[in-house]
Amino acid sequence: MATRAMNRRSFLQWTGAGALSLWSPAALGWGAANAPNILFILADDIGYGDFGCYGATKVKTPNVDRLASQGLRFTDAHSPSAVCTPTRYAFMTGEYAWRKKGTGILPGIASLIVEPGRVTVPSLLKQAGYTTGIVGKWHLGLGPKEPTDYNGAIKPGPLEVGFDYCFIIPATGDRTPCVYVENHRVVGLDPNDPIQLDYSVKRGEPRSFVNGIPRIGSQTGGKAALWKDEEIAGTLAAKAEAFLERNKDKRFFLFLSTHDIHVPRVPHPHPFADVRAGVRGDTIHSFDGTVGQVLASLDRLKLADNTLVIVTSDNGGVLDANGPDVEHGGTVETNNGHLHNGPLRAGKGSPYEGGTRVPFIVRWPGHIKPGVSDALICHVDMLASMAALTAQRLVESAGPDSFNVLPALLGEKLDKPCRDHLVEHGNVLALRKGPWKLIPANPAGGANKKGKKGKKRNGAGAQLYNLAEDIGETNNVATAHPDLVKEMTALLQRIRENGRSRSS
Ligand code: CA
Repeated sequence: MATRAMNRRSFLQWTGAGALSLWSPAALGWGAANAPNILFILADDIGYGDFGCYGATKVKTPNVDRLASQGLRFTDAHSPSAVCTPTRYAFMTGEYAWRKKGTGILPGIASLIVEPGRVTVPSLLKQAGYTTGIVGKWHLGLGPKEPTDYNGAIKPGPLEVGFDYCFIIPATGDRTPCVYVENHRVVGLDPNDPIQLDYSVKRGEPRSFVNGIPRIGSQTGGKAALWKDEEIAGTLAAKAEAFLERNKDKRFFLFLSTHDIHVPRVPHPHPFADVRAGVRGDTIHSFDGTVGQVLASLDRLKLADNTLVIVTSDNGGVLDANGPDVEHGGTVETNNGHLHNGPLRAGKGSPYEGGTRVPFIVRWPGHIKPGVSDALICHVDMLASMAALTAQRLVESAGPDSFNVLPALLGEKLDKPCRDHLVEHGNVLALRKGPWKLIPANPAGGANKKGKKGKKRNGAGAQLYNLAEDIGETNNVATAHPDLVKEMTALLQRIRENGRSRSS
């Protein structure tokens, strides 16, 4: 009887999964019970042109390139935003961050912005029996109210929104506090030397320096707990490896969220340092080394065949250092001609393609045929896609902007796209629909604002680009297609007003 009851429950689960979309994992021959481990590696500020497999020649990324040769490489994958915090919020929740106030780039004293109890990628996977962990940059706030108190038990945080384990950089490498938090505590904190943060201190002021590097906000106290900037990449890779080792006999989800290649860029010496694209290029090498190290762990632990690996970035590339030490960012010239966003226009922060079109590689040996995909996908889709992968039904209220793109991730032949539109979030909202890209008329500012010397960049009118012919967004064809501009402007308005874009 027990078996029959179990079978019936399984059947109902499948039926539920089938209702998520026409596609069902059962039809493809696996189910929730043998869904793979998931390793999601999110780089920080790596651009569309920063890997060899995306055309880079001035840097060497053999590990990422090997992953791409063994998996599926996407050419039209997007981060949900052109900057850090909103991308991470949308990845976690399946909701576009611009729908919610307070999801902009956070200081290191911000409270948690993901509500405990809501469905997140890790909580969803935990429900499916996964052991879940995050190692690396968090940047979604910590604690119940601002300012975060780092001197006691720090919660709510990652453990309250779905993770079983965390070892995190609370905000960013260039924001205080410059310490790691493991689960609920600052690592290595001496209680007699409590941490105090002051976010009225601007980067570059004498008090903003920690480890000789200017930060946003100041930190006093916590001296024994300070990280060493040049060791961050190695520390995070080691913590990721330890998580894999500890959980090799369980089904796991690991979110490895690197500091590389965000500023400050303080890379370790690297074997490829002779092929220079500036300090920034060396941090790309550092990121590639991290990828190589964790992939080698998967091999050593014999987990590679049963682990779905994704490597991507949280927003487009950027050269400048956000600070006075331009040596750590530089120009295209000091980067030896390296084009960090390849052929795309603009970069981090921008509504142009360079803001959100990012590298995205997925590998699952035996299940994903190696190749290249031009499917339109976004990190905001991970929630619905992971639900499908684990045969779970996403409740109506969860992931309002998350589409099931699993068929695209698996390289399935698609009768129609998994998503036919996408809102791109830079300093203004833009809309993708098929090959078309609309930046609506915006007299107020954003991408349409005047240039530094009062010169208009693009005018206040709508911008329309046909990316199939003009990936660099150089030729505004809005005046030639007034009906399309009207239709797409109305669609963007509807998506904003409806509070959701996922229909099923
Ligand atoms: Ca970023």
